[in-house]
Amino acid sequence: MKKIAVFTSGGDSPGMNACIRAVVRTAIFKGLEVYGIHRGYEGMIDGDIKRMHSYSVSNIVQRGGTILKSARSEKFKTPEGRKKAFDNLKSHGIEGLVAIGGDGTFTGAKIFHEEFGIPVIGCPGTIDNDIYGTDYTIGFDTAVNTALEAIDKIRDTAAAHDRIFFIEVMGRDAGFLAVESGIGGGAEFVMVPETATDLDAVVKSLKNLRKTKTSSIIVVAEGDDEGNAEEIMAKVKSKIKDDSKEFKVTTLGHIQRGGNPTARDRVLASRCGMAAVDGLLQGNFACMAGVMNQAVVYTSFADCIGKTKPLIEDHLKLIDILSI
Ligand code: ATP
Repeated sequence: MKKIAVFTSGGDSPGMNACIRAVVRTAIFKGLEVYGIHRGYEGMIDGDIKRMHSYSVSNIVQRGGTILKSARSEKFKTPEGRKKAFDNLKSHGIEGLVAIGGDGTFTGAKIFHEEFGIPVIGCPGTIDNDIYGTDYTIGFDTAVNTALEAIDKIRDTAAAHDRIFFIEVMGRDAGFLAVESGIGGGAEFVMVPETATDLDAVVKSLKNLRKTKTSSIIVVAEGDDEGNAEEIMAKVKSKIKDDSKEFKVTTLGHIQRGGNPTARDRVLASRCGMAAVDGLLQGNFACMAGVMNQAVVYTSFADCIGKTKPLIEDHLKLIDILSI
C-alpha cells in the first residue's frame, strides 16, 4: 500500500483534527502518500481530494471541528454514488481509507469495502460515545466537560432562585453524555433513552427532595422516551401541582459539539489515528481502531454497528444514591 486517504464524516466532534493529524503524520512517517477527502463521502463522490503533507496538519491538534469539513451524503447511500466515489479514489491511486466518524460512517464504509474490496479502517469520532469497541469515542470527553461547565453555571442561578432546571443535552439514542455530565454536575435526576423514565417516581422524589433542597437539576438526553426537556418539564409541572415552584428549561444544543478538545480527547484521537494507519498496513480491514482498558483494539465494523454499548450500570446507581 502506497497511497491512503483520510476523511471525516457525520456529526463533527472535538478531536477529529488531532486524529487527522495523527493519520497524516503516521502515514508520512511510514513512507506513504496521504490525501485528505473534504466533506466526507460527499467530497469523495465530487472528487474533492487533495494531497496532504506534514505541514498540512500543523497547528490543528488543539482545534475543534474538522479541517477536512464533514457532511452527510444521501448520494453515498446509492450504488451509483458509491461507484463514482470509488472511481475517484482509483483515479488518484488511493489504495486505503481512514474514516473518522460514527456508526453511520462505519455502515457506509462497510458497504463500500464489501462492494469494491477497498481497505477501510475507522476511528470513532462522535460526541455520543455510542460505539461498541472503544471505551470512549473522540469528542465525548470534551462534550461532557462543555455540558458540565454549563450545568455549573445553571446551578448557580437555580440555587439563587430556588428553581427546578431541566437541562437538555445531546443524545438521541444514547445517554452517555447525560449520565456523565449528570454525575459530574451533581444532578438530582438523569433521563436517558436506554431506560424507561418513570415520571411519577420523579415527581414523588422531587416532592421529597424539596424538604431538604430548594433547587434541583435534571439532565435530560434529547432522545428520552418521555420527550424532550420542554415536554418533560410540562408533564412534571402538571403532575406536581404546586404553583410556588418555578420550572425552567435550558437546551445546550450545538455548543456541545464545539470547543478545543480536552487532553483526553487529543490523546485518544492521536492513538486511534496512528493505530488506523498501522492497521491498514497490517491488513486489518473493515474494522475500527479503538481503545479499551488502555490498549488499542481493532473491532470489526459489523460488531461496532451491530452491538450495543451499554451504559455503565454503576453510573446510574451513583446518581440515585448521591442525589438524596
Ligand atoms: P454521528 O453519530 O455523529 O451522527 P455518523 O457517522 O453516525 O455520526 P451519519 O449521518 O449517520 O453520521 O452517517 C454519515 C454518513 O455515512 C451518511 O451521511 C452517509 O453518507 C453514510 N452512510 C450512513 N449509512 C449508510 C448506508 N446505509 N449506506 C451507505 N452510506 C451510509
